[in-house]
Formats: sequence, C-alpha cells, structure tokens
Amino acid sequence: MHDHEDGHHHDHDHQCGHDHDHSHDNHYSDMQARVKALETLLTEKGLIDPAAIDAIVETYETKVGPRNGAQVVAKAWSDPEFAEWLRRDATAAIASLGFTGRQGEHMRAVFNTPETHNLVVCTLCSCYPWSVLGLPPVWYKAPAYRSRAVIDPRGVLAEFGTVLPAEKKIRVWDSTAELRYLVIPERPTRTDGMSEAALADLVSRDAMIGTALATKPEATV
Ligand code: FE
Repeated sequence: MHDHEDGHHHDHDHQCGHDHDHSHDNHYSDMQARVKALETLLTEKGLIDPAAIDAIVETYETKVGPRNGAQVVAKAWSDPEFAEWLRRDATAAIASLGFTGRQGEHMRAVFNTPETHNLVVCTLCSCYPWSVLGLPPVWYKAPAYRSRAVIDPRGVLAEFGTVLPAEKKIRVWDSTAELRYLVIPERPTRTDGMSEAALADLVSRDAMIGTALATKPEATV
C-alpha cells in the first residue's frame, strides 16, 4: 500500500473488468446497445414513453437502491455496537440487515470524521456497492470522475457543491470487483433523539459515495 498526495489509497492490484467476475462491466457497452435498440423499437411502436423509462431509472438510482445504504448509516449512527461491527466486518454487518451482494463482493465501511473525508471511485471501470446503493449514477462511470477523483478530489467535491475546509484530509478509495466501499457520513448536529427512519432520510446516495455530506435536519423540511 502507498499513499498518494491527499491520502489516496490504492492498496490492491486492480484488475477490474479483465479476468474475473465482473460481467456487468465486461458486457456493459453491448448491453447498453441492446437496451437502446429495444427502447427505440418499443418507442416507435408507441408501447413505451422514454420519459417514463428515465423516471424509473432515476427512481432506482436515487431512491430505491440507496435507501438500503441509508438504513445502514442510520443504524450505525444510532447503535454504537452496530457501528463497531460495521467497522470490523462491514460485509457481515450489512448482510445482517438483509442487504447482500453477489458472491465474492466484500464491503468495507469508511467513516468520515472531523479530520478526514472519504470519497469512493473506481478508477478502471465502475465497481459500485450495488447491494446498498443500487444503480451507479452516470457520472460515477464517466472517465472524468474516475480520473479526476484521484488527481483532484477537493476540486471534484467542490463541483458537487461540497466545499471542505482546507485542513480536512480527503482519502480516496479505489473500488474493485472484490472490495467495495460505503462512506458513513458524519452524523449532522441537532439530530439527537431522531428515529433511524428519520435519520436515514438525511442520507443521500451521494453522501454514501462521498461527493456530498449528510443533510442537515432543518434542510429537509
Ligand atoms: Fe471497477
């Protein structure tokens, strides 16, 4: 393992998309082409409305999938024993809530602290914690994010509207097919006594990738 500037970690031999269980990436462009062809055909026949498809995809990207991860975060905020388990063995702790991934997918939870912010990327393809976050957003798969998250994480965060104090360290975690990361954001202040369900509402998909922070409670009203 070696640390790059600004705390970038690259402690694995990243072979994503080459020789292992990673078919969603290997066949992605082929699949994308097939989906596009099907969508075009169905649209021409008047059977589907592309806007409706976009709305469904958007729902799975931003709502359905990431609600699993938000439950994990809310439980970690509420239950110190669960948080400790999550720190020690995220795969098992997350599976205990019923969120399990494909065979061979291991999870690691990285906790934001007052000193350190965590950001997740897959530099070579688009490895993503499907079991807790659902579908990856388009930008996560884009070459610009994948390269710049490592080179200039602070600048990328600022583009997402997340401006961190200069003294806060940023660690960038490079996902692989074997190991995927879930960012546990810092619990916002003035959330004492909130239920896990209410806390989960403060946790966005982007907060669990690390491009955003948890929402302040007053901002959700
Ligand atoms: Fe990958």
